[in-house]
Amino acid sequence: MSLDELYQEVIMDHYARPRNKGRLEHPDIDRELANPVCGDVIRVQVALDGGRVGDVRFSGKGCSISQASASMMTELIKGRTLDEARGLIERFLAMMKGEPGDYGALRDLQALQGVSRYPVRIKCATLAWHVLEGGLPAAAADAAAADAGGAAAADAVPVEGGGAAAAADADGAAAADANGATAPGKRKIHGSPER
Ligand code: ZN
Repeated sequence: MSLDELYQEVIMDHYARPRNKGRLEHPDIDRELANPVCGDVIRVQVALDGGRVGDVRFSGKGCSISQASASMMTELIKGRTLDEARGLIERFLAMMKGEPGDYGALRDLQALQGVSRYPVRIKCATLAWHVLEGGLPAAAADAAAADAGGAAAADAVPVEGGGAAAAADADGAAAADANGATAPGKRKIHGSPER
């Protein structure tokens, strides 16, 4: 069996038997994007657990590449810290840009490397990753606000003319705090701004 055939088999296996497909009851991250060119739709939900991807599910429809990529992504990022997840997103997107490099960390996802030769299909392969990528920064900001003991959130409230947007931001951060995104009482004393 050639490498291409092996890769094809990996993709079809994830398409036929998607891992982590379904919905979470109380996701911290819940985001959906579509790739209108191909008709792919991917929703990714993540439940955080102490700064890690505690649980992750995807749902949606579309071509084998989009669905297999989402399935493999959920397997890869489960249990990872958010920083690790960001690093893996970066690696995967670099691979899909055709950048040379060692992509061993992406495991099964290396099966999609050949897709980088087909520009139209790249969007299929990267869809789930863009969904996740867009959800992560907000989660990181929440964690930073929690680290700062809510100081960041408090700062955001009295901004003159900040209006509804600032208030909404503060609400969001407070809500995330309440959800126990970080363990209560585990407050950083040294408080480095970019943990
Ligand atoms: Zn597609």
